[in-house]
Amino acid sequence: MTLKDTLTAEIEARRDDLIALCQDLIRIPTLNPPGENYREICDYLDRRLLKSGFHTELVRAEGAKGDSAKYPRWNIVARREGTRPGECVHFNSHIDVVEVGRGWTTDPFGGEVKDGKIYGRGTCDMKGGLAASIVAAEAFIAICPDFAGAIEISGTADEESGGFGGVAYLAEKGYFDPARVQHVIIPEPLNKDRICLGHRGVWWAEIETYGEIAHGSMPFLGDCAVRHMGAVMQEMEDTLFPALAQKRTDMPVVPEGARQSTLNINSIHGGEAEQDADYTGLPSPCVPDSCRMVIDRRFLIEEDIDEVQEEIHAILRAVKERRATFSYDVRELQRVLPTMTEKSAPVVQTVARAITDVLGTDPQYVVSPGTYDQKHIDRIGRLKNCIAYGPGILDLAHKPDEYVGIDDMVDSARVMGNSLIDLLT
Ligand SMILES: [Zn+2]
Repeated sequence: MTLKDTLTAEIEARRDDLIALCQDLIRIPTLNPPGENYREICDYLDRRLLKSGFHTELVRAEGAKGDSAKYPRWNIVARREGTRPGECVHFNSHIDVVEVGRGWTTDPFGGEVKDGKIYGRGTCDMKGGLAASIVAAEAFIAICPDFAGAIEISGTADEESGGFGGVAYLAEKGYFDPARVQHVIIPEPLNKDRICLGHRGVWWAEIETYGEIAHGSMPFLGDCAVRHMGAVMQEMEDTLFPALAQKRTDMPVVPEGARQSTLNINSIHGGEAEQDADYTGLPSPCVPDSCRMVIDRRFLIEEDIDEVQEEIHAILRAVKERRATFSYDVRELQRVLPTMTEKSAPVVQTVARAITDVLGTDPQYVVSPGTYDQKHIDRIGRLKNCIAYGPGILDLAHKPDEYVGIDDMVDSARVMGNSLIDLLT
């Protein structure tokens, strides 16, 4: 029997343990926002990983965005040293899940098993991946106790809200320093035969147009900020959206529709604030003197962030030329630069070989339309050798009746275990 056959048998023997681990994690509701039960899930992981011989650290992201006495941002970093020098492979999973939403036919925090699937909020995104990486590491250590280098497993907070109390904080503290960690696998649900190399960039901004308040019966005495914003939207329709559709990328973004620049108008509000639902009166007649729009621009590795911003300013200048009283502001809310690991990177090559071995198919290389914690590992940690690879179907993330396939968890655990054999023996 080869080492890889032994690993397959070892992981198969742990199938029930893998299911139980995933269920336990689902039964700790780590809803974010607000960021509940982070300490509870870290304590659970701490007990589990201590038993498996890991040295563990619980790290609170004190002072990070979102951290408070009521909702502390706890993270766990566990490290198991091999018996001789070598490289470190790090599995990073976020421990938070998004709100439940409506439309469930199963208990979102029950971890029910039905037809070879485990149901619950976070099964797919991404506690199934976290469980698979833990069992992969434990099975590998059982059959190769004299491995070289080190294995790290982290459970981190707040990925769903930007990762500032999680991976960003740890990266700032040096946990992803290339001197400490050489390979990072993030078991996000990208499907078990796909390697995710990175993600597009994000630029969120708020545009505000200004007017002058007046009585609504004499709008000519004021200046309507909403009409100014209407002109901005028309300019976007006429020039910006067609231009964005022409900007195609060589990044293998999935789905296909995201293989170009995109812009979403996230929200728009002009004039009086809306009253509570139980308010029975009418609004007062006023010409609105302010209108605000939040835009969500996703950009490509071929684009420059300055160029992305300049496009919006060009739209606003064009409107100003036609409207004498037009005035505006643009405020940046968030920026994330695109990131993409080279296909030739060692972690990509290793996981690709493992997918071929385990599944008998060539991997598909993809890039995510939205961002995830790889941005912090790349930009703050300065570590390029990072991918997302894990079980679960991406389209199920954040949906009602979210589930993860048990066979998919087992197969991806085999891929992760095979990768450890390649990198650490
Ligand atoms: Zn996720």
